[in-house]
Amino acid sequence: MRQSSLVVIANRLPLDDNAAPDGACEWRRSPGGLASALHAILEQTPATWVGWAGGVGPAPALPDMGSLRLRPVSLTEDELRGYYEGFANSTLWPLYHDAVQQPTFDRGWWETYRAVNQRFAEAAAEIAEPGAAIWVQDYHLQLVPAMLRELRPDLLIGFFLHVPFPPPELYMQLPRRVELLRGMLGADLVGFQRPQAAHNVAQLAKKLLGVVATDDAIAVDGRTVRTGAFPVSIDVTEMRALAARPDVVSHARQLRHDLGVPKRVLLSVDRLDYTKGIEHRLTAYSELLRDGFVKVRDTVMVQVAVPSRERVESYQDLRDRIEGEVGRINGEYGRVGEPAIHYLNQPFARSQLAALYQTADVMVVTPLRDGMNLVAKEFIAAREDGAGALVLSEFAGAAAELEQAFLVNPHDVDGLKDTLLQAMKADRGDLTARMTAMRQHLTEHDILAWARAYLTALDHTGQLAERLP
Ligand code: UDP
Repeated sequence: MRQSSLVVIANRLPLDDNAAPDGACEWRRSPGGLASALHAILEQTPATWVGWAGGVGPAPALPDMGSLRLRPVSLTEDELRGYYEGFANSTLWPLYHDAVQQPTFDRGWWETYRAVNQRFAEAAAEIAEPGAAIWVQDYHLQLVPAMLRELRPDLLIGFFLHVPFPPPELYMQLPRRVELLRGMLGADLVGFQRPQAAHNVAQLAKKLLGVVATDDAIAVDGRTVRTGAFPVSIDVTEMRALAARPDVVSHARQLRHDLGVPKRVLLSVDRLDYTKGIEHRLTAYSELLRDGFVKVRDTVMVQVAVPSRERVESYQDLRDRIEGEVGRINGEYGRVGEPAIHYLNQPFARSQLAALYQTADVMVVTPLRDGMNLVAKEFIAAREDGAGALVLSEFAGAAAELEQAFLVNPHDVDGLKDTLLQAMKADRGDLTARMTAMRQHLTEHDILAWARAYLTALDHTGQLAERLP
């Protein structure tokens, strides 16, 4: 067994650049995501990525991805239901997103979640060199840091949570709250998207474990766990290159023609998820049509809603509601050959998204709660022309960085309508100034900067940091 000095553990392996047919696209963002950021680092250090390859049954044998080795972890059908669809996505996901949907607490799921986390931990323990750095990703694997420490106390263990960490009063509802908190605190460094999350964890550690905790350090079991905010980003260079590709530019031109530009185009791109605020957005748009502020002859909306977690009932219900509402709006306000909304319930390749982003006059990103929201950042990066407006929810992690967006509270439908109109009417000079500032920020804070900041903080020996480009 070949060993690695850097091991990334994530629910999914970074296998391709399309969202998966089941919408389970977490960490399937290569070459645009973490995998590509790591490549620059991996060139100089043997690294392995441990993750699920998708599907059920025995794990497939996978070739290396350049300098990155892939170590697949298998899941059975029961594990997929209990660990992935169950505890991760029907308990933790809604709870961590402010319980905008009621979390389900099913006692059976917990054991499966724990068993699968143990399998990921064992896979990593097997291939990690003595003293290796391990970087565990996200809420699917929150028990892995403590399990790894148990198996391999010699390792340097990092954990990064891509989703929000909820306020203590919500987290306290979780039946296995102590084990889950302890699981995460098995790491040497716990990273979050926002400082608020580190604050929430410190409060919980004091309350549940009775330990000394500040917003950047928690004393537990005779160790110090460091915590902090490391806002994740995108591969800006890759998105810019995609957006400039001649076939993408000509696809964008064709899309504009098909949409009837010079009509104004409002665009949203989301996984079909209740955290994304799609229903609130549709209500706002419908009322703007009803009250005559927008008309189908001068404005069109495009809503990409990628199928996601389709076997989970709450996602099926949401899809029914959204499709009913889109049908109602088109039925009421559309004209022959001129729908009010183009609704696309299908995954798009990154090159197609790069073209779509270029068609938008207003990009509407209004989640009720979101760890970061990479789509908002991708839109900014794709707009080499410096045109277009971004309407962005205050409750997306991205709002802390993209301050020049038209920020909005998506729960406030009247405020959302006003902000949409403001963005539609903004003059070109104002929009260019906003876009220039946001593009500048992204250039300085891309995915490589994120990985570098995190790994530098993780590795107090300085060895990993030395290998960074
Ligand atoms: N995405 C994609 N195809 C699609 C829609 C989205 O590849 O049809 C990608 C998108 O480019 C982005 C990611 O999926 O990188 C979505 O990330 P985000 O943080 O916006 O939301 P999440 O789905 O992780 O909640």
